[in-house]
Amino acid sequence: MNLANYLPKREGKIGIVAKGCDSRNIAVHIVENQIKREQLFIIGVPCKGMVDSRKITSFLGGKELRELSESNGDIMLNGEGFEHSLKRKDYLQDNCMRCNHRNPVIYDAIAGDLVEETGEPDPYDDVSDIEAMGSDERWGFFSDLIKECTRCYACRNACPLCYCPTCFVDESDPQWVGKSTDPTDTMTFHILRAYHCAGRCTDCGACEQACPVDIKV
Ligand code: SF4
Ligand code: SF4
Ligand code: SF4
Repeated sequence: MNLANYLPKREGKIGIVAKGCDSRNIAVHIVENQIKREQLFIIGVPCKGMVDSRKITSFLGGKELRELSESNGDIMLNGEGFEHSLKRKDYLQDNCMRCNHRNPVIYDAIAGDLVEETGEPDPYDDVSDIEAMGSDERWGFFSDLIKECTRCYACRNACPLCYCPTCFVDESDPQWVGKSTDPTDTMTFHILRAYHCAGRCTDCGACEQACPVDIKV
């Protein structure tokens, strides 16, 4: 959950908690005139990455988790008849694994010591892989990526930068896309949304976390 989702066109003063990616998202809202800096009291949180609950669930393979705790970079999982210790860094959200801007970029108060920014890994290595593909391979890659999409729009709704009063997919005059899960309509949604977010996305991962079918939006 990226709390910047609640900022557009808000009146009055508001406090907000922000990790690195959230704070960059808030900066985009200020630049795009959705909120004024002086309306905000930002509590910055230096971030060590978010543990991905889906990776934990997948690891447990159906076993019921009763207790989770963290200590010295490890995650301890306890349940009936099992106890596991996992390396925290191996179970982060994908966006957190490639994050190299973990400290908030703007804040009024900071909750904790700033964390070290390693500058690694390259956050665009997956982009380089796609750029290396030919056009047919690229089309196949994206078609395969979204083939399970039900067009529920949870990714759009979770995205702080999808704040349009009426999204193009909800327009009826003209109607840009149909209401079914026709592959052409689904591809149109994803390609246009990608264009709308290009250069604005701060890789907070809210869209991927919201997707019920685990698409790497
Ligand atoms: S992308 Fe992940 S590691 Fe980076 S600031 Fe956001 S939550 Fe923290
Ligand atoms: S997909 Fe585009 S039109 Fe729809 S809410 Fe996001 S930015 Fe706005
Ligand atoms: S949240 Fe997932 S299933 Fe829903 S529209 Fe987005 S990509 Fe498709």
